[in-house]
Amino acid sequence: MFSAPNVIPEEIAVLPKVNLHTHLEGSVRPETFWELCREQKLQLPFERSDVVRALQVTGEERNLVDYLEKIARVYPALKNAQALHRTAYEAAIDAAHDRVIYLELRAGPMTHACPGLPVEKVIEAMLLGLRRAESETGIVCRLIVAALRNHPVADNLHLAKVAVEFGNEGVVGFDLAGDEANFPAQLHAEAIEIARRGGLGITIHAGEAAGPENVRYAVMELGTKRVGHGIRSVEDAGVMELLAEKSILLELCPTSNVHTKAVGDIRSHPVRRFFDYGIRIAIGDDDPITSNTRLSRELTLLQEQFGFSIQELQRIQKMALEAAFISDKALRERLYQQICAIDSSKE
Ligand SMILES: [Zn+2]
Repeated sequence: MFSAPNVIPEEIAVLPKVNLHTHLEGSVRPETFWELCREQKLQLPFERSDVVRALQVTGEERNLVDYLEKIARVYPALKNAQALHRTAYEAAIDAAHDRVIYLELRAGPMTHACPGLPVEKVIEAMLLGLRRAESETGIVCRLIVAALRNHPVADNLHLAKVAVEFGNEGVVGFDLAGDEANFPAQLHAEAIEIARRGGLGITIHAGEAAGPENVRYAVMELGTKRVGHGIRSVEDAGVMELLAEKSILLELCPTSNVHTKAVGDIRSHPVRRFFDYGIRIAIGDDDPITSNTRLSRELTLLQEQFGFSIQELQRIQKMALEAAFISDKALRERLYQQICAIDSSKE
């Protein structure tokens, strides 16, 4: 069972980090999940001692769909405002402990909406959790609203309109996630257009469980500036050129890619090829609980497996920040200075 390194070199531990790609649903602490189920009197088909195994990959997953099913185990516990507040808060706290200074947490609010809990309340609860973490730790958190590919088109149109209404409240982006192989992005092009016109940043999961043509479509037709994963772009020289030329940022999450079988093994991950080609990249942890990882562990993986120097890892944090959905120039500058400060402190 592949997992990212557990021992983090000090220089990576202290590096101020930017995480643009992490999902709330893959970030729920197992003990929290257990408590939420108990509080809500939800029946579980496993014992407390098996809860970690139930939420984390075991190596038996054949593809992205199997991986997503694992993540979906937490869904029943999240149809509740307090649960959303708590899990968003804890995801941000865990990131802050990993020395993440800027987090764009993403979540699929439609999954958690239910009678008595409209999607607006779902988003509100998560934003409150993020604000609490900000005030306690100094981390800066924003929310990306994720539309799921397998959801009805009308639901995602509604979601896009609601997401835009939260544009001044902490929602900064709109994402398309979920089962890429079976549900083309074309279905949800209008929802993405609504979000884009409403001023939200766009990022699309593409080229993860399907080919590079999906990356091309996301860039050319949906106007995305960021692509979730996009790793299969390496199969098409034209798409590689397009990404470099248009300064598209790939949000790469190497461990998750091994777990979803998007790559055969970690050695064949194209992270180095993208970087050396001059394509902008950010590193995320995708689903830190599901994949038993953290951003610092992903960066250690890059150092150990692909020889990334600490300077290169720092440069990646700067690239991520440049592509972050931040409209406030002063905030971006302040975060940039925090990343740079690590050099001077060594002198
Ligand atoms: Zn993702």
